[in-house]
Amino acid sequence: MIDEIDNKNVLLIEPDFPIPKKSRNHKDFLPIGLLKIASYLKKERNCDVQLIRLGSEFKNFDNIFDFYPDIIFVTSLFTYWADDVQRAVSFSKEKFTDAYIVVGGIYASLLPKHCKKHTGCDEVFEGVWKEAEEYDPDYSLVDVDYQIIHTSRGCERRCPYCGVYIIEPKCAYDRSIKQKIVKRKLVFYDNNFLANENIESILKELIELKKERKILSCESQSGFDGRILHEKPHLGVLLKKAGFINPKIAWDGPFSQKKLIKNQIDVLINSGYKPKEISIFMLYNYNISFEEMENKRIQCWKWNVQITDCRFRPLKKYFKDNYNPYTKKPQSDDDYYIHHNWTDKLIRMFRSNIRKQNICVRQDVHYYSADIERKRISKVKASKYKNMGFEDAKNFISDAWNPAVTHNDI
Ligand code: SF4
Repeated sequence: MIDEIDNKNVLLIEPDFPIPKKSRNHKDFLPIGLLKIASYLKKERNCDVQLIRLGSEFKNFDNIFDFYPDIIFVTSLFTYWADDVQRAVSFSKEKFTDAYIVVGGIYASLLPKHCKKHTGCDEVFEGVWKEAEEYDPDYSLVDVDYQIIHTSRGCERRCPYCGVYIIEPKCAYDRSIKQKIVKRKLVFYDNNFLANENIESILKELIELKKERKILSCESQSGFDGRILHEKPHLGVLLKKAGFINPKIAWDGPFSQKKLIKNQIDVLINSGYKPKEISIFMLYNYNISFEEMENKRIQCWKWNVQITDCRFRPLKKYFKDNYNPYTKKPQSDDDYYIHHNWTDKLIRMFRSNIRKQNICVRQDVHYYSADIERKRISKVKASKYKNMGFEDAKNFISDAWNPAVTHNDI
């Protein structure tokens, strides 16, 4: 059906994923695959294309369209958000009874058979649509002030918790990207940006564009590969000169890797980044125990770097993820995936510890206080105690929390 798509009316649908409304246009959640398909179909296949984002403020879609779609493309994300995709397909079938429905994206590529059966779509599209991939996203369909770019596809590594090798099995690297740039803020969606064999010339292009004020800032959605940074520390300097902000690296292994990780952090610091601008991705709810994760957290506190916590969820099987970060009621394995090394209580505690610690790092303070954060303590009093160490502060701030020690009570 995709082969016979010329001159058709095409509707692109982003399901109502459980993303906070205010984050819909966040750089991490733009339906970039659909936007590239839109450009391709408009420019090369003479299609009339519309996009709807089911989680957006437009709840009454009846008035939006003056055309009836022949084909509908529904995108998908993680396997644990499969039910949202299924609901989007049901919505499409109900509204547009004769349209042909194709589901693509991450879940569709990782579990194609499950996707076909579970959603009831007509076709599952696996992997990346090569022809569309060549096109710039159609930003006229969304309201954002940044541009998303890929300079590469795939990743040479095979981390056991990552599905990139299934969705993008072949590595492909751009030589140059300056012709692609249309906005001043750039967000790179590469899986492993520094692994691009042309990375130096790409960074040099960005440095030139920055000097000419054609770009303002760059950011990488994924972490930088710390092993590459360590082997080629001059890349850190090029990243800084190119205007990359908020660099992240990953520490998914054991506490015993701390020297290695510190070396990688030092590359970034020696390149001009302040420690608190750096964030460390940490996978938890996985095979490292809570106690060891706490040691890693405390080590990050000593380094004065932030942490981006990633709760592990199996990628290659279907299950529901109804984890509710706001509930006071305990949740169980029936609600969301809990690794056998972890419990619901430990997962909540670790998240809470990370959040409090990040606030301390960002605000340059030695303790966290919910009373201060929620303004139950006056501004004047809070600023009086701001520069105190934890031991002194706890005499004045009754809920002062010390990031430098293990916490296993909520
Ligand atoms: S380095 Fe990143 S993209 Fe590559 S396999 Fe590991 S997690 Fe996936």
